[in-house]
Amino acid sequence: MSALELIATTKTYGEIVAVDAIDYKFASGTYSCLLGPSGCGKSSTLRMIAGHETVSGGDIILGGINITDLPPAARGTAMMFQDYALFPHLSVIDNVAFSQKMQGIQKATRRARAMELLELVDMQEYAERIPDQLSGGQQQRVALARALITEPSILLLDEPLSALDPFLRIKMRAELKKLQRSLGISFIHVTHSQDEALALADQIIVMNNAVIEQSGSPMEVFNKPNSEFVAKFIGGHNVLPTDAGKIAIRTDRIKIQKDKAKGSMSAIIRDVEFLGSTVNVAMDAGSRGEVVASVTDSIFYNQPMEIGETVFLKWNKKDAHRLAE
Ligand code: ADP
Ligand code: MG
Repeated sequence: MSALELIATTKTYGEIVAVDAIDYKFASGTYSCLLGPSGCGKSSTLRMIAGHETVSGGDIILGGINITDLPPAARGTAMMFQDYALFPHLSVIDNVAFSQKMQGIQKATRRARAMELLELVDMQEYAERIPDQLSGGQQQRVALARALITEPSILLLDEPLSALDPFLRIKMRAELKKLQRSLGISFIHVTHSQDEALALADQIIVMNNAVIEQSGSPMEVFNKPNSEFVAKFIGGHNVLPTDAGKIAIRTDRIKIQKDKAKGSMSAIIRDVEFLGSTVNVAMDAGSRGEVVASVTDSIFYNQPMEIGETVFLKWNKKDAHRLAE
């Protein structure tokens, strides 16, 4: 069942087409990531779903209802902003209870409900602090609780982890995923980070130049990128020209040999990058351009390779994936 459907949804700003007639069905109860480079239309898409941006063309259907022209509060969506946008002069609990205050819900009731949400994000001990007295990660939890108090059927998150340091980012992404599972509602999370999308999402929607390039599970998108753009953007792939077109091959599927073998491709080692459990070897394969092989550290150190050395590359045919023109 689809919770949310975009039908030829379009956003233009004057001459700029930010979102170009995209069609997509978000399944209910799933974690979806809108992934793509800066400026490809991710935030515009999310803001149209939230109702913070008018829709220039097409429709948005949520739970069978056309919400295209509804005001944000009447949609059943909630949005968590990149900068959290907490009210600086209000305590944590009053921040979380704010939307219920606007609805005229009495103080004791709304504070009790806000406390439940603070417990959900493990922030109950900080209820009386003001946002300035919290770390970035704590502010984010409060922003989450504030968005969830409206009991949305969809939570929209625009680059929610980008303001956090790398360590906290990885911790919080696991918590977001856990929260989505326990609530059972759909999360739509905008990110330009491939790692984040691969780690978090049930479904990844890759956007480029105002359109959807590809959508699918992280495994589908990673193992079968359908275009050169997706292969390069998702990372971990080589895109190589062949007589019949271009192919993508995962960097960890390239085998480096010292001796020439039938059907192997020669290359010169240009750079060796140690990444911990793996080593990335960048090579120049002449007319076929740059090739990167990602090998385990034990394989690399059993057979060390020098910059400037000529090596021979092989891969299994089944690992070469043809790309659409
Ligand atoms: P993303 O979130 O993927 O970085 P955006 O949706 O913010 O992309 O922007 C898509 C395109 O629309 C960009 O070219 C951007 O410059 C343009 N854009 C976004 N917001 C506005 C605006 N308020 N006015 C004019 N152009 C905008
Ligand atoms: Mg954006």
